[in-house]
Amino acid sequence: MSVLITGSVALDSVKTPLEEHHELMGGSASYASMAASFFTPVNMVGIVGSDFPKKYFELYRQHGINLDGLQVADGPTFRWSGEYEWDLNKRRTLSVCLNVFETFQPGLPEAYKATPYVLLANISPQLQMHVLAQVSGPKFVVADTMDLWIEKQRDALVELLRHIDCLILNESEAREFTQQTNLIKAGRQILKLGPKFVVVKKGEHGSLLFGNDMFFSAPAYPLEDIHDPTGAGDCFAGGFTGYLARKDRIDPNTLRNAVIHGSVIASYCVEDFSLTRLESLTQPEIKERYDLFQVMSRFEMS
Ligand code: AMP
Repeated sequence: MSVLITGSVALDSVKTPLEEHHELMGGSASYASMAASFFTPVNMVGIVGSDFPKKYFELYRQHGINLDGLQVADGPTFRWSGEYEWDLNKRRTLSVCLNVFETFQPGLPEAYKATPYVLLANISPQLQMHVLAQVSGPKFVVADTMDLWIEKQRDALVELLRHIDCLILNESEAREFTQQTNLIKAGRQILKLGPKFVVVKKGEHGSLLFGNDMFFSAPAYPLEDIHDPTGAGDCFAGGFTGYLARKDRIDPNTLRNAVIHGSVIASYCVEDFSLTRLESLTQPEIKERYDLFQVMSRFEMS
């Protein structure tokens, strides 16, 4: 089962206390598509400018990502820059230049319209809705969001929630969106707005999955070598949705496994800048870390 992924395709500049890199391949759709590609074929929807390096198209293709829905427009590619503190959970956005994204209103290629699984990676909820409206009868729709849209396009985000199956957001966004300090209450409150499932990511502390009849708390992988946390959330969403598409079932155990596979891909992503680590990631490495997640969370009565 394939997955349609829309979101930003960007050139990022990232500064951590130890390193600084410019014009890196990034964007929510880039990270999410690469992550999902480890599980299932991907139909990408996005836009880049004429300055987007050609070698990146090749990289997507090598990972089974269909680029028929990736427009190349005159003008510069979307650019984002951010800076991390010593606490790598804390990030400051330094600049966002929408560039070719400013007027982006994609029409889906005919062959994309029947894609059964959809991931609306982080981009404005209006654009997410515009893409979703063109997909006919999807089986399962996941959306990611960020504080910017909670603050600037709240009504559009609330409307989107009525049309999706699962919302993914991080803990500060869940608190801000619901005005709740308690994450359990926040998760339950979002469920009442439409989605059947909500995933709250807690950065290096794992994640929580809420459903009307289920709750799952996933541990975090105890990583020591974090070089760049950029894209971890997008990789989580891509790995999560890609895994569901591969299994083509939505039940509590498959959802729990999807959370763990999302966490595994995210844990590899942060080991290097941009998509560098994912370029060389192998299935045995995914399996190895998945097994470790299982061992870490298993306990029996003593
Ligand atoms: P994450 O670290 O998972 O929050 O995602 C980081 C990625 O999101 C970067 O590669 C950015 O290019 C992209 N990004 C940042 N701001 C936005 C935005 N407003 N809309 C879409 N993508 C964005």
